[in-house]
Amino acid sequence: MDSITASEGMHYEGTCIRPPPEASSILLQVTLGCSHNRCTFCGTFKDKRFQIKADDIILSDILFASTYMKGQDQVFLMDGDALIIPQKRLMWILERIQEHLLWVKRVGAYANTKSIGMKSLHELVELRENGLGKLYLGVETGDDEIRKKIDKGSTAQQCLEMGRRVKDAGMQLTLTLLLGIGGKAKSLAHARVTGELVSAIDPDYVGLLTVILIPGTPLWEEHERGDFAMPDERGLLMEMREMIAHTNVSHCLFTSQHASNYLLIRAWLPEGKQEVMDMIDAALRGEIGLRPEWVRSF
Ligand code: SF4
Repeated sequence: MDSITASEGMHYEGTCIRPPPEASSILLQVTLGCSHNRCTFCGTFKDKRFQIKADDIILSDILFASTYMKGQDQVFLMDGDALIIPQKRLMWILERIQEHLLWVKRVGAYANTKSIGMKSLHELVELRENGLGKLYLGVETGDDEIRKKIDKGSTAQQCLEMGRRVKDAGMQLTLTLLLGIGGKAKSLAHARVTGELVSAIDPDYVGLLTVILIPGTPLWEEHERGDFAMPDERGLLMEMREMIAHTNVSHCLFTSQHASNYLLIRAWLPEGKQEVMDMIDAALRGEIGLRPEWVRSF
């Protein structure tokens, strides 16, 4: 391993995604794809079979970053759920980051209920003490009927328990939620229980996304058969309003910065709750313009 040096570039493979707040982070791809890869709305990693990348490739990328990415003080571990990496190996990656990227202040990664469940509280604390300070958990909805239908692979109760475990470990927790995933039929019910689940987990950040139907995914096929109908723009605004109305948290940045959303909001809750609901009402009255369809992306 000692003979590895910074190569000609980062070894990115296939489609790579990161959350909006990680736009300035060093993007270190440590896994390919997502270990779950079954959510019916998601086409992101359909081109990849899940695997953990080889240690020498990961080290080569860290060394490349150590030479060329000195201005970036955060690392984001891609792809889908880097937390699924066994503890010893994940610790090795964090130690190499600490060794070679001395200026990095915090490492982040996507996680899911399964990957969090595979780590004890003690192991999460150990990861946090070695730099892994922020996890992004894709909750999408608090409605178990919808969760089953979209093949999320876990229940709202498991989301609650795993979200709390991350918080108990002292890590920052971002929940991602999905507007429109209940379709027209369950739009407001999805909003209410999701807001209640967020309140129970009490995360540091919430990132909202809006469903975009991706050709080839099971949800797209459902829509083509006439079995799934998305709320329209007005319906989505009302869904977002209902979700925020049912969200009672102690201190949380609630945003819809993602490119899939029609309306950009950014508010600290609970202080900014009324202001952001007034903003949505203004958008419902047509006083605030929405993001045009052609610039939306998932
Ligand atoms: S939404 Fe997340 S957990 Fe589901 S398949 Fe896509 S990457 Fe995997």
